[in-house]
Amino acid sequence: MDKISIIVPCYNEEEAMPIFYEEITKVADKMKKKAEFEFIFVNDGSRDNTLEVARGLSDKDKRVRYVSFSRNFGKEAGMLAGLEASRGDFIAIMDVDLQDPPALVEEMYDTLKEGVYDCVATRRVSRDGEPPVRSFFAELYYKLINKISKTEIVNGARDFRLMTRQMVDSILELREYNRFSKGIFSWVGYNTKWLEYKNVERVAGTTKWNFWKLFLYSLESIVAFSTVPLAVASILGILFCLIAFIMILVIIIKTSTVGDPVAGWPSLVCIILLVSGIQLFCMGIIGQYLSKTYLEVKKRPVYIIKETEETKR
Ligand code: UDP
Ligand code: MG
Repeated sequence: MDKISIIVPCYNEEEAMPIFYEEITKVADKMKKKAEFEFIFVNDGSRDNTLEVARGLSDKDKRVRYVSFSRNFGKEAGMLAGLEASRGDFIAIMDVDLQDPPALVEEMYDTLKEGVYDCVATRRVSRDGEPPVRSFFAELYYKLINKISKTEIVNGARDFRLMTRQMVDSILELREYNRFSKGIFSWVGYNTKWLEYKNVERVAGTTKWNFWKLFLYSLESIVAFSTVPLAVASILGILFCLIAFIMILVIIIKTSTVGDPVAGWPSLVCIILLVSGIQLFCMGIIGQYLSKTYLEVKKRPVYIIKETEETKR
């Protein structure tokens, strides 16, 4: 019989976890003739009782496993830890807040069993319940990244997906420190089927994202999956050299023909400000790539595990 691993990153989710467990076990019961399950809760350094809840669930249900981090490492690290801990033939990643409908797991599994696809992923087609400003910038972001990155980043794609063991093993081969999973899932290739659904609101707890965090995350994904900004820096440099060259010619010709009344101090200041601004901007771009390279070469672990269901205290 097949085994399905359900990976659930959790950060301060003591309220949502029992509700999620309830729902996902219903799905497992419904599918018990087809597949067995393991549920892996990844406690991402929560400050509330998430770990206690995970311990409790694993005491009463042998299918529940958990991995608990020594501090908060972020959802990307949580997903990676889950994938590494998973033992199933099919592996799903789900949010604990029920924004990813557990009922879809069966449909996903049936699709994969047909043998055509390696992955069934989900994308939101509506952004109901989200601030309009955020939706606007999200749309803009997807347009931009897909222009400048060779890896397709699907608009509205969620992390909720079911994958085959083979695909997960490929994902685990990517050892990078700065992980942007939406890009990694797409980079490894394989056949993905997209299921579409409307945005569902959280059942309990609060979102861990705000506009600023999302903005930084989007910058990180651009650095991780595109080197076009570096080219932009060089192109701007060339452009400004050209402009300067033309200006020099104009000034030489003007001085030797009509003479040179000393004027133009304000325009000079403007030019200096503009050019130095652009220089700093380009240095910033290079700095972004340098800092990511710096973090990669340090080869720090992506997460540190403090406790699992096997080392429970
Ligand atoms: N999460 C995590 N570590 C973090 C932030 C979030 O493991 O540092 C988990 C969180 O518990 C949830 C999932 O990632 O299961 C998605 O988070 P959230 O619902 O806050 O994001 P949203 O759905 O609002 O994009
Ligand atoms: Mg959510």
